[in-house]
Amino acid sequence: MPTIRQLDPHVADLIAAGEVVERPASVVKELMENSIDAGASAVTVEIANGGMTLIRVTDDGCGIPADQAATAFLRHATSKISTQFDLEAIGTLGFRGEALAAISAVSRIDLLTRVADAPLGACLNLEAGRVISQEEAGCPTGTTMVVRDLFFNTPARQKFMKKDSAEGAAVFANVQRIALSHPELSVKFIRDGKQELLTPGDSQLKSAVYAVMGRDIALGLLPVKGGGDGIGVSGFVSMPTCCRGSRNYQHFFVNGRYVKSRVMMAGLEEAYKNQKMVGKFPGCVLHLTLRPNEVDVNVHPTKTEVKFRSDQQVFSAVYYAVLSALGGDRSRPQAVLSTPKAADTVTPHQTSFSMRDYTAPRAEAPGSAPAKAEAPKPEQPGPVIVSHTRPIPTPAPKPAAPVSPAPGAAQPSAPTFRRAETLPREDAGVSAPQPKPVPAVKPEPAPEPVSVSQPEPAPEPAPVPVPEPPEEDWVIRGELFHTYVMVEQGEKVLLIDKHAAHERANFDRLKAENYTPMVQELLLPVTVNPSPEEREILLAQLELLSRFGFDVEEFGATALAVRAAPNDVDTGEIEATLLELARRIRVTGNADPAGARDELLHTMACKAAIKGGQKNGPEELEEVAKMVMSGRVRYCPHGRPVAIELTRSQLEKQFKRA
Ligand code: ADP
Ligand code: MG
Repeated sequence: MPTIRQLDPHVADLIAAGEVVERPASVVKELMENSIDAGASAVTVEIANGGMTLIRVTDDGCGIPADQAATAFLRHATSKISTQFDLEAIGTLGFRGEALAAISAVSRIDLLTRVADAPLGACLNLEAGRVISQEEAGCPTGTTMVVRDLFFNTPARQKFMKKDSAEGAAVFANVQRIALSHPELSVKFIRDGKQELLTPGDSQLKSAVYAVMGRDIALGLLPVKGGGDGIGVSGFVSMPTCCRGSRNYQHFFVNGRYVKSRVMMAGLEEAYKNQKMVGKFPGCVLHLTLRPNEVDVNVHPTKTEVKFRSDQQVFSAVYYAVLSALGGDRSRPQAVLSTPKAADTVTPHQTSFSMRDYTAPRAEAPGSAPAKAEAPKPEQPGPVIVSHTRPIPTPAPKPAAPVSPAPGAAQPSAPTFRRAETLPREDAGVSAPQPKPVPAVKPEPAPEPVSVSQPEPAPEPAPVPVPEPPEEDWVIRGELFHTYVMVEQGEKVLLIDKHAAHERANFDRLKAENYTPMVQELLLPVTVNPSPEEREILLAQLELLSRFGFDVEEFGATALAVRAAPNDVDTGEIEATLLELARRIRVTGNADPAGARDELLHTMACKAAIKGGQKNGPEELEEVAKMVMSGRVRYCPHGRPVAIELTRSQLEKQFKRA
């Protein structure tokens, strides 16, 4: 029988240390963050041999009182928070009280520190977490932390270290990020005796960017200033012509903390849609500021991952701020129609408006007009008509609830439609009229781009657009059984299956080559309880699932745990989605990866779609109708029609009028 016993504190410390202290770069990050929290105005980082033999961080912060110097190295010892409530609004970079314990557990440390009102400071020497000596010492106010021989007592870990040059580069990258995150701090970096960075600490982000990135890159940057709803976005982004071949120049910060954020990255890159070359990435130094309780920084020991209360708001804030930066002085577009016709002629009783007032981007035939949203498309739009032979009971034409003349569905807050659909993909006025390569299938259920009220800058000469054949106006006349949207157009009526149409639109979007899931880390993993067979099927698809944003792992002997999922799928639908996927793969016996992928996309598209029988607001119905009436959406992913047609003459025959 194995005996259960509590781990020796030393072993527990080593395990915990592994989480925080991965390599010299993580040590430097923690020490510099401590300096910032201590109110330092200057910090010097010095390393030798990539930081493996020596890391020295010196600051002019508040220092540590001599009688507390040893305590700082105990696990969970911190001066920054004391109650659970403090956790909800963290204003410092550190708060877990782990870093010094973790670092000291795997190295030899010398600490020299003094607070302003003490005549003498303290000098401590620690080895593998144990205090070897403590003495009084004369020193300037502030703290110097010297970390030597990292991982000297954990040879297994030492083996994982890369070459000194690589470790040194990782240290430098972290130093640069911190310099960019705190322009009020003067940062000096010395590697093997050579100074490689000095930022002035003049509180100007521009100066820090200049010092860190160099003149060439700094000159290719545009200032960003924007935000709203309690979120501030500021910093610099690349000019579209100065994009790079990798994302290495993207630096995101939240409340002064360097973070990796897919949401911010997505907002940034979305703003460059159609403005940069394919395969190039914008660089940025973007600072997001928001109320501390709007963001959870306590989701990972190294705190580079954060969880926002509203990804949607953050995405929009970044997207619009960057878009304005790219478009010069444009401010956040308001949902105001530019077409006088719609604004002027809609009466209070009117329940719909002409399609021609919209500029929804459509699937473009390769080689068609440029990516300017309202460029007329050469292809013939129009609903797919499937004739219906049986008579349909015709309800009295009851007008739908009045629909706002503004394209309300384009507001990012429309309830059912998700981010990718509700945000303008291209701001009509900003898109550079450059042709973009269009994948063969790329209809996306993007909303109509919201036109801005400002006059548009005159577009550059674009290829002469092929005139669009006149499109007949249509009117939503209501909804049947909360399932079919009834649209009148000329001499016919269309019944649109709202679920099928939305599902199709989702499917196309997911299938688009450039689709990248917005992944949502789940605070509490969702457990899925499949049958043993379903479990096997799902486990065989982990790679596919992760490509589409599902982080799934085995949980116990029979269950699975989902730690992250794409935003397209509601948390409450995660289990159903995976079980449905397993069922589909079982039924179709799909051994081939493309087949399995399509099954996943079908399942996600379906789960993310509005449901038949469910109540939807007028804007949502309108959005669905638009997808179909524009010809963007034709068949549901299973090949069923999304709309059926009934003509006036059919009705007249049935009523014996004709
Ligand atoms: P945390 O930063 O999460 O509080 P650390 O283990 O990094 O935990 O540090 C423990 C404590 O030591 C801090 O809360 C702070 O009081 C003190 N400390 C560490 N570094 C410094 C420094 N450079 N200047 C002043 N105090 C420091
Ligand atoms: Mg700390």
